[in-house]
Amino acid sequence: MGKVIGIDLGTTNSCVAVVEGGRPVVITNAEGQRTTPSIVSFSKNGEILVGEAAKRQAVSNSDRTVSSIKRKMGTNYTINIDGKTYTPQTISAFILKKLKNDAESYLGEKVSEAVITVPAYFNDAQRQATKEAGQLAGLNVKRVINEPTAAAVAYGLENSKEQTIMVYDLGGGTFDVSIIKIEDEIMEVLATCGDTYLGGNDFDQEIVNWIVSEFKKSDRIDLSEDIVALQRIKEAAETAKKELSTAKVTNINLPFIAADNSGPKNLDMDLTRAKFFSLTEELINKTSTSVKNALSDASINVSSLNKVLLVGGSTRMISAQDKVKELTKKNPNKELNPDECVALGAAIQGDKLSGNSAGFELLLLDVTPLSLSIGTNGGIATRIIERNTSIPTRKSHMVTTVSDGQTSIDVWVFQGERKFARDNKELGCVTLDNIPPMRAGKAKVEVIFAIDANGILSVSAKELITGNMTSATIVPSTMSQDEIDSQIFASTYYEKVDGEKEKAVEEMLKLQDTINNVKYTLDGLKERFPSQAFKNINIIIEKANDFLEETNCAIKAEDQEIFRSLNRELMNEMENIYKKGNH
Ligand code: AMP
Repeated sequence: MGKVIGIDLGTTNSCVAVVEGGRPVVITNAEGQRTTPSIVSFSKNGEILVGEAAKRQAVSNSDRTVSSIKRKMGTNYTINIDGKTYTPQTISAFILKKLKNDAESYLGEKVSEAVITVPAYFNDAQRQATKEAGQLAGLNVKRVINEPTAAAVAYGLENSKEQTIMVYDLGGGTFDVSIIKIEDEIMEVLATCGDTYLGGNDFDQEIVNWIVSEFKKSDRIDLSEDIVALQRIKEAAETAKKELSTAKVTNINLPFIAADNSGPKNLDMDLTRAKFFSLTEELINKTSTSVKNALSDASINVSSLNKVLLVGGSTRMISAQDKVKELTKKNPNKELNPDECVALGAAIQGDKLSGNSAGFELLLLDVTPLSLSIGTNGGIATRIIERNTSIPTRKSHMVTTVSDGQTSIDVWVFQGERKFARDNKELGCVTLDNIPPMRAGKAKVEVIFAIDANGILSVSAKELITGNMTSATIVPSTMSQDEIDSQIFASTYYEKVDGEKEKAVEEMLKLQDTINNVKYTLDGLKERFPSQAFKNINIIIEKANDFLEETNCAIKAEDQEIFRSLNRELMNEMENIYKKGNH
């Protein structure tokens, strides 16, 4: 097998590495750089430019230049250029193709296999899209691995003694934090948390907003509608942000940014580090929540952390470093280059998968970032795989039919942390047909969830009496970060409310059970009792069924008492029937 390259497909920059002579090395691109801007530009003469060349066109050709496409991975977003529609996968494929070509020139041989990294918090659709992008670029994607895990692999290569580390990864567009244990050549991810919509771009945007509003105040011109001016401001904002990682104040100077009746206008402002910190304080604070959640999911106290690794270009910001120190009471480790360590880790993993590996015995155990569940009776999301479960993993759960003679079952699959299915992200449905008709509750259907080493889910359902089976790889519609955030927030906020609602659902299920049992029992009693004896109970059943139908779509916590009392009424009436029959 040939070389398997490791690719860090970043929001802002990408990096490719390979193992040579037992050590991972970064491959320099055709321009002599160790990282390549993740930018694609469609020049007016039909050429597709990638990397530095595309970045240079960002101002002059802004409406035909695509950057930060990683933020759109796994969504239905498309971009239309010259009548052609491009998906995020296709745009990413152009970037990957360039990295592949650069690797081929460096190695002097064809490269057809790669390990590509993704943010740990990427969901199923985003991972699938990344794999697809690789395929479009002519790469067989041997594995999709998590960026913080890859960074830890690069670190673990040199430091395989027993320890627990935290990887704080703030890149151009995403934030991840992972808690990883290294022990006896096993690297186990204990927990991962993050935000797929938080990164350096957001810090740039805050500066852009500030510049636009200051300019409006001073020159009474709104630059927010001027695409070319905005692109120039965006670039200047990023440069200013980077400068503030070393300097206390920076000057933003953009001549001829606009014009009015009085002539051309120049933009000239000073931005202090303190002002930058205050503009972006909220963004930095967002990372704290993920750090705390990851530590709590891993059941680790900060004092048990041996090391903190900083990954991603945005960890060069002083405010990010200060935040990490404040949260962990530790000075972050500076051994790794935050721009390169992810690709180096991916290359190490690629080398292992190539079968040519000369050493690196480190075994990698990663986790799935979000819980997976199925929708069950009463709208409950029944967890099949909990978040932060080691992958690959396979879990099964038995379900059954809810009505007599039911011959098919729809298994709805959800991703997220809420108790009710409808509050989570719906991923898709697997339908199992040809179930032999039988009484409600008699069919035995085993639902199996399997997550592969790439974090990609497949679901199958099997009827155990006939052995009928159906399966599908779930390709979910993507959950936006807002949805993820609101869900995680909501799962704690609504915990109490959900708990009460859950009790109502339990009562509802009990009532359904009682109705079914009563109906069977009445069938058996038909011979012994005159039909008149069943009049009352039939009225109660009808009443109960009406109420069940009414509440089916929107169960409320208050309904539990009504379910309970209907249940009691049914039981009492059954007792009456028996009592009367025995006299
Ligand atoms: P990555 O996706 O890891 O390549 O990170 C890219 C992000 O890091 C971009 O938002 C850059 O603006 C940011 N970045 C790179 N260097 C610095 C720096 N010296 N100070 C602050 N941010 C930086």
